[in-house]
Amino acid sequence: MGKPTGFKEFDREVEPYRDAMDRLLDYKEIYTDHRDEHLQTQGARCMDCGVPFCQSDEGCPVYNLIPEWNDLVYNNRWKEALDRLHKTNNFPEFTGRVCPAPCEGACVLGIHEPPVTIKNIECAIADRGFDEGWVVANPPQSRSGRKIAVVGSGPAGLAAAAQLNQMGHEVTVYERDDRIGGLLMYGIPNMKLDKAVVDRRVNLLAEEGVHFVVNADVGGTGDNGVDVQQLLDDNDALLLATGATTPRDLKIENREGDGVHFAMEFLLKNTKSLLDSNLDDGEYISAKDKNVIVIGGGDTGTDCIGTSLRHGCKSLVNFEIMPRPPVDRDENNPWPTWPLIFRVDYGHEEAAAKYGNDPRVYSISGTEFVRDDDGKLLGINTVEVDKNFNEVPGTIKFWEADLILLSMGFLGPEHYVSEPLSLELDQRSNYKAEYKDFRTSNEKVFAAGDCRRGQSLVVRAIDEGRLVADEIDKFLNS
Ligand SMILES: Cc1cc2nc3c(=O)[nH]c(=O)nc-3n(C[C@H](O)[C@H](O)[C@H](O)COP(=O)(O)OP(=O)(O)OC[C@H]3O[C@@H](n4cnc5c(N)ncnc54)[C@H](O)[C@@H]3O)c2cc1C
Ligand code: SF4
Repeated sequence: MGKPTGFKEFDREVEPYRDAMDRLLDYKEIYTDHRDEHLQTQGARCMDCGVPFCQSDEGCPVYNLIPEWNDLVYNNRWKEALDRLHKTNNFPEFTGRVCPAPCEGACVLGIHEPPVTIKNIECAIADRGFDEGWVVANPPQSRSGRKIAVVGSGPAGLAAAAQLNQMGHEVTVYERDDRIGGLLMYGIPNMKLDKAVVDRRVNLLAEEGVHFVVNADVGGTGDNGVDVQQLLDDNDALLLATGATTPRDLKIENREGDGVHFAMEFLLKNTKSLLDSNLDDGEYISAKDKNVIVIGGGDTGTDCIGTSLRHGCKSLVNFEIMPRPPVDRDENNPWPTWPLIFRVDYGHEEAAAKYGNDPRVYSISGTEFVRDDDGKLLGINTVEVDKNFNEVPGTIKFWEADLILLSMGFLGPEHYVSEPLSLELDQRSNYKAEYKDFRTSNEKVFAAGDCRRGQSLVVRAIDEGRLVADEIDKFLNS
């Protein structure tokens, strides 16, 4: 424990984001530079608890050794902090940027004081490692001669590939998109996770010996299709890490027609066009000068807000079917569970800076899209709903909109990969496989990440990728 009285002396101070109005002018990351002195002070607030809940089941899903690296940072031993961090997390530069930090919700200091700024410290350790040149390719000493195909290059597929490659197996990652990274590349936008950060890690993995094949649609029947049965026959094991890519639709009247898009279509096209041509090719759905309504919250909704604002939308409203969360934890949401409280994410802050108020409207549900005789979108009718989602009579309201983005979660994976293999599905249509076992109904086929558990978090995908690698290794050696 670096400084026994640190938590009494220093207040929690999160690293600030760039000024909201300034950052709306570009797609650069929203974060400001790390300052060592600030982070050491924040690390000094860690109490090195006897039972560190931050790294328990309620806290960090990969069991990061948090008190250890807090202490090392406080004592200016950054290289050792990086080594400790890499023991449990393959990609701390991703989680340090995008993780919602359940560790902080479980921090013991959080019982009576604001918790330690764990996520900021993690990000700073990871960034320092790259800046100092400490993170270098580390290929395995020997090869096992066993071959594994990984389908999907999101954090689950990448973490599994990294671990299996370190064990000496020959790993090939197949990705249907034209760039590697899954939602790290084409879901989470640049301002939250710069794509150079993703490419940097992918290049390291390639240097270590992982093979990557893009534009490879496994199970697909088009030009880029790859026969999944053949892939299974050619490899000793197959890992499905295909994500939860089926979006939940809003099947109300007048759904068909232009102006209504799924969030992922909007976000993917924007990032692709940005990376391909700095948006010059026009191959994206523009929100410029439009009245935009984002339906649904969470990270995806926030990313739609941030992207629409950067396009220069005319107005922006965000519908939430849930009531506004409380400012403090409710009695039935005690420490160390994840605090279900009102939060202001980067997109909300930016909308408030531009328009003067938070864009969110709570306890509201769409009843019909409104279109003119030619089918052009004019807006949406809504009703207010109570906490059981029952309509409140007399609350119908029309909202003008030229662009409506649906960000209402995901229903599970697509099944054209699993069908040819006759894999069993669970009740929520995910590929059926138990956590910590990860075997599907075909003994050579494993599943991990969002395609197995439903849409979740980057850190949980990394956790599953690491664990499934152990199970595949056991299978290959059995
Ligand atoms: C817009 C958005 C923002 C998010 N923001 C955050 C955040 O800030 N923090 C956080 O922790 N989590 C966030 N999440 C959730 C997080 O990104 C996911 O939980 C995580 O990426 C899941 O990882 P995965 O590897 O299981 O799948 P994915 O990242 O979804 O990757 C699956 C990959 O498989 C590929 N694939 C699918 N089928 C095939 C096929 N047949 N052949 C070849 N390739 C295939 C897909 O193209 C995709 O690249 C966000 C999600 C979304 C949608
Ligand atoms: S990965 Fe997430 S939960 Fe784990 S230490 Fe980092 S911010 Fe906390």
